Amino acid sequence: MTAKMIKLRFFIKTLFLIITLTAAMVLQFACRTEIKERTKEDIYTYLREKMVENQIIERNIKDKNVIRAMKKVPRHAFIPEENRNQAYNDTPVLIGEGQTISQPYVVALMTENLDLIGDERVLEIGTGSGYQAAILAEIVREVYTVEIIYSLYQRANLALNDYSNIKTSNHDGYYGWEEYAPFDRIIVTAAPDHIPQPLISQLKQGGIMVIPVGPPGWNQVLWKVEKVNGKIKTTQIADVVIFVQLTRNK
Ligand code: SAH
Repeated sequence: MTAKMIKLRFFIKTLFLIITLTAAMVLQFACRTEIKERTKEDIYTYLREKMVENQIIERNIKDKNVIRAMKKVPRHAFIPEENRNQAYNDTPVLIGEGQTISQPYVVALMTENLDLIGDERVLEIGTGSGYQAAILAEIVREVYTVEIIYSLYQRANLALNDYSNIKTSNHDGYYGWEEYAPFDRIIVTAAPDHIPQPLISQLKQGGIMVIPVGPPGWNQVLWKVEKVNGKIKTTQIADVVIFVQLTRNK
């Protein structure tokens, strides 16, 4: 064997060794990342189960569909990365632009009070993160959701991408969504200081609207509004709830 051939063999062997080692390192890194991701998802699933047990069922939410939807929808996926660890806390969580995703119990209470069967077309005012819209879409036929802040509307569109029964829009929801009215149910997740007339008009006969009303930031009352034979009947669901204000386009 010539010296040249020995050198070549040595070079090929070394190259082979380097390639093998690099591949092993890449594989190990990929596996570790995947395990980490899987563990994270498992933890979120566990926390979600606990959330439903302790915050929803314990507090007397009975609607089977609401419980099923809240067990299923990954709430953490609707919350920006930096606050994701708070996803299953018993509190509202910041979602950007000074807005919040409602506390899980409030989502459950509002949804239960809509008395849903499953064949409804529902209008939501205040898409925010998109979480409430996803919960509704797990239960009803069609969801129409309106958000006034463009960046939140865009982010929610991404989060809701897999739901073919949700339509989103970026406009002032004080005016409802005339194009698709009337609706069987309306849910408002930001608080105005009075019930917007366009929403009453866009509610079907026999329809139900759940809406917080009150001064900005405090002491709002959560109402169930029913339209019976053209008349409006209001029942209080809860007092002293806190929602972000329903803002208006100037
Ligand atoms: N349902 C949301 C919670 C949203 S907080 C969720 O599940 O995450 C209330 C939202 O209402 C905010 O995103 C706010 O920007 C929006 N909002 C406030 N005034 C509005 C208006 N006039 N029309 C539509 N959306 C409005």
